[in-house]
Amino acid sequence: MALISLHNVSKTYPPARKGEPPVAALQEINLEIEVGEIFGIIGYSGAGKSTLVRLINALESSTSGTITVDGRQVSGVPERKLKSIRLGIGMIFQQFNLFNSKTVRNNIAYPLRVAGQSKAEIAARVDELLAFVGLTDKADSYPEQLSGGQKQRVGIARALAAAPKILLADEATSALDPETTHEVLALLRRANRELGITIVVITHEMDVIKNLATRVAVMDGGRIVEQGDVFEVFSNP
Ligand code: ADP
Ligand code: ADP
Repeated sequence: MALISLHNVSKTYPPARKGEPPVAALQEINLEIEVGEIFGIIGYSGAGKSTLVRLINALESSTSGTITVDGRQVSGVPERKLKSIRLGIGMIFQQFNLFNSKTVRNNIAYPLRVAGQSKAEIAARVDELLAFVGLTDKADSYPEQLSGGQKQRVGIARALAAAPKILLADEATSALDPETTHEVLALLRRANRELGITIVVITHEMDVIKNLATRVAVMDGGRIVEQGDVFEVFSNP
């Protein structure tokens, strides 16, 4: 069974102004992401990528269709049940979304505190994560003292903290220069290989998908217009 599965999923937003038509952000999406793969979702701005992420992460509900994550139905589920589904998904973002008033260590510790782990457990886990992302010497620095690439490594460590099965990377390298992008992509590849985490990469950058993903879905106008192995999809004329 696929780790993430969407069946005939549509999402319509009400019109922004009276008299305008509703916005069909997603239309009849069918998608299966398997355990252990790196799956890319690519499309221009407005294609529906962020909406898709919010549905998988159970931050919003679909208008129709079914979504399952790790064998559990996400659509039409009460809010209190969604919390544990969200804990199984780590997120990283274009603007890193770090807490600027917290040190690197406390940023990474945050989800573990929310999950109610003990101080000793948290300290040990954070040390392990700092080593994994190569930032042991920056543990007591604040985000503003870090480069963009270092900030995203903190973001990755925080996303991995609660040992999720899935990592959603939403334009995670779009604010980084090419060299730093390669560093971050290498780290994501290691998370996939060494930790077995399934990664979903959302981006408008074809190079990111080519470098990282094995399969890809191409989105346009709220639909998946093409889907398959990266090599095949991008070699089509
Ligand atoms: P992408 O992430 O690919 O840029 P989005 O999922 O953000 O695409 O947007 C898809 C479409 O849905 C766009 O037309 C956008 O304007 C619309 N949309 C996204 N979020 C909302 C919202 N909260 N309310 C109304 N319309 C939205
Ligand atoms: P609550 O569920 O009590 O409203 P929050 O909105 O603070 O809690 O956080 C909800 C989830 O989002 C938490 O699991 C937390 O780890 C995550 N979260 C909150 N703020 C951020 C952030 N800036 N970046 C990444 N994840 C965050």
